[in-house]
Amino acid sequence: MGVEFNTHPGTAIGAQRPWFSLADMARVRPRLCGGILIESATMFSRYDMHAHSTASDGSLSPSELMRRAHAAGVEVMALTDHDTLNGLSEAAAQAQELGLGFVPGVEVSVTWEGITVHIVGLGVSADTEVLRRGLEGICEFRDWRAEEIGRRLARHGIDGAFEGARAYSNGQLISRTHFAHFLVEKRHASDLRAVFRKFLVSGKPGYVAGQWAELEDAVRWIRSAGGQAVIAHPARYGLTRSKLRRLIGAFAEAGGEALEVVSGSHSRDDFYTMARHARDFGLLASAGSDYHGPEHPWIQLGRVPKLPDGCKAVWKDWHLSH
Ligand code: AMP
Ligand code: MN
Ligand code: MN
Ligand code: MN
Repeated sequence: MGVEFNTHPGTAIGAQRPWFSLADMARVRPRLCGGILIESATMFSRYDMHAHSTASDGSLSPSELMRRAHAAGVEVMALTDHDTLNGLSEAAAQAQELGLGFVPGVEVSVTWEGITVHIVGLGVSADTEVLRRGLEGICEFRDWRAEEIGRRLARHGIDGAFEGARAYSNGQLISRTHFAHFLVEKRHASDLRAVFRKFLVSGKPGYVAGQWAELEDAVRWIRSAGGQAVIAHPARYGLTRSKLRRLIGAFAEAGGEALEVVSGSHSRDDFYTMARHARDFGLLASAGSDYHGPEHPWIQLGRVPKLPDGCKAVWKDWHLSH
């Protein structure tokens, strides 16, 4: 199966965490129609529009990610690595072999009014110069930032962090996740979440403020590459309602098309709140796990809840071809 976008070809994958309690599960009654379990009876989305591979800070290779998504029952999968398109061709080839729909994507790091915001691009064509050059610019800052994080941790008494993070990155871009793996290995904290809290967030010794892309540029690059721009995990930025609405307004004004209503880092209340924001701004809705690998067991592939009723899915005009 492949996914055809209006202007360019794509192909597909998916993932998730336990938003649903056992009590919820018991309430959902699968409906049988002539012996066939009809699709609407399941609580999980067939689409997963947000996931990472070893091309950025995920722990599965693009092929492994596609195989796992397929095995988990995902039908249309996106690969959306941070600031790189490097994993897309491998993922597309594996998805095609599996008969899995594949959506070539990216998650662009943006600085908006002093905060870091992530903009997912779905259905991007990987050979678009404008997008490639934009991402290269971001990665130059990433390279410098990685060295700076290393210097700051060294001043804090932790040696070899840059080299350690680089070793975890396998020659691909270096993210804070790679530093986190190194710091856990060296027992500076017990797990990835704890290590972020202790070292890698604002006010902590290994934190370097982002200087990422402009919001308008990120949207423009994605659109130039034939893609649709989506604000990733909008509930995760800790913004007040009015500031979040300002962000959404600026994003829509710039040509952004969708909000990630369902995300691995959203609560169920967040789904409904973000669905309302999407409706108010006339935006489409996306759903994605933000899967990074099996070492984050609270997010599993194949377990992305469906969009709330009334949402217009970002994939509504895509044509699934078999
Ligand atoms: P970077 O883009 O290099 O600044 O890294 C951001 C990535 O770090 C995110 O995409 C997450 O994968 C990861 N991350 C950020 N905050 C946390 C956290 N509190 N716990 C675990 N991973 C985190
Ligand atoms: Mn990440
Ligand atoms: Mn993100
Ligand atoms: Mn992500």
